[in-house]
Amino acid sequence: MPGFEIFGEEERKQVNDVLETGVLMRYGFDGMRNNHWKAKEFETQFAARMESKYCQLVSSGTSALTIALASAGIGAGDEVIMPTFTFVASFESIMMIGAVPVLVDVDDTLTLSPSAVESAITPKTRCVMPVHMCGSMADLNALKTICERHNLILLEDACQALGGTYNGKPLGSIGDLGCFSFDYVKTITCGEGGGVITNNSDYAINADQYQDHGHDHHGNDRGAETHPTLGYNFRISELNAAVGVAQLQKLDAILEIQKRNYTIMRTALEQVEGITFRRVPEGGVESYSFLNFFLPSESLAKKGHKALSENGVDACFYWYDNNWHYIHGWEHLRNLTSLGKMPQEIKNQLQDLNQMDFSKSDAWISRTISSLIKIAWTEEEVKERAQKMVASLQKILTA
Ligand SMILES: *Cc1c(COP(=O)(O)O)cnc(C)c1O
Repeated sequence: MPGFEIFGEEERKQVNDVLETGVLMRYGFDGMRNNHWKAKEFETQFAARMESKYCQLVSSGTSALTIALASAGIGAGDEVIMPTFTFVASFESIMMIGAVPVLVDVDDTLTLSPSAVESAITPKTRCVMPVHMCGSMADLNALKTICERHNLILLEDACQALGGTYNGKPLGSIGDLGCFSFDYVKTITCGEGGGVITNNSDYAINADQYQDHGHDHHGNDRGAETHPTLGYNFRISELNAAVGVAQLQKLDAILEIQKRNYTIMRTALEQVEGITFRRVPEGGVESYSFLNFFLPSESLAKKGHKALSENGVDACFYWYDNNWHYIHGWEHLRNLTSLGKMPQEIKNQLQDLNQMDFSKSDAWISRTISSLIKIAWTEEEVKERAQKMVASLQKILTA
């Protein structure tokens, strides 16, 4: 995910537009801003690119998730189903509004298992939050059917899969709401930033107001605006939005290079007996931000990951032992270690995560290795990398 690999003239020009007027805020100061509305410009262009009616640009992907949940009316004690393999932002965003994360297993797509989702539904369930980890998607047809049957909101976390598609539609645009991150390590970056997309005008209005203290954004006297509901400040600054405007123009070129680099490595690894690949649901096209593969056992995956790093193949991840992306690393969630007192609903309803059986998730994640796909790599460098990967893994698998 290469946002951090690119910062050029185009980004500098957009930032300079903002610096020249000094209007660093996305709202107001109409006379001073020389018609620069970088956040608004990004929103219009991103909504169009994502084939969605509305986009709300905000301060981070994590706040985008919180805003999406809040805008759909989710609150204290409501249950949100999420996967065991994701970034910590999933449960952070849910608990921020007093809602309760319900963790369920992933399958060989490395995303939510639809049957695990179905078994976790209770009368308190309000939302299903699939996370399209590492460039590929959940089985959205199956999840959509479940959500329709039980009248639940489908919220896609597409932070790691910007540019992937499902049945020809952009990931993030298929559920009721979709969220993206534009932090420094995502496919495109604002430095820090996030976005919510939706086709639902009520959710769009709620998101617009909630992320800015409840401001109704009517008229052009900010101080005179009313506040239909309580909100918060999750605004993005114009400087960050300006970087995003430039990066968005580069998205299709980035995706093309990701696909080329992914394909070179995948074709090479397909020749290695014992290596299999993460399942992509029918109708899905990856964003190619990562290449994800399975080794035959946990111990071989651990050895393989070590061998890759010892042989100079950087940017490979073994998530099973990782602090941030798998339930194993989340003692603070399992033990509900918080600075202050947590809402009673969360304390009462949270699963006993130290006792839960997630062996179905373990069976996949313990065998998964993911290689980041960088776009600065030349074709020659990727070929060399692919050969090193093949050699290191073959050695482990035939030992
Ligand atoms: C990065 C990420 C987020 C959070 O985004 P931030 O902008 O860093 O807050 C949420 N979900 C997933 C899957 C992510 O990878």
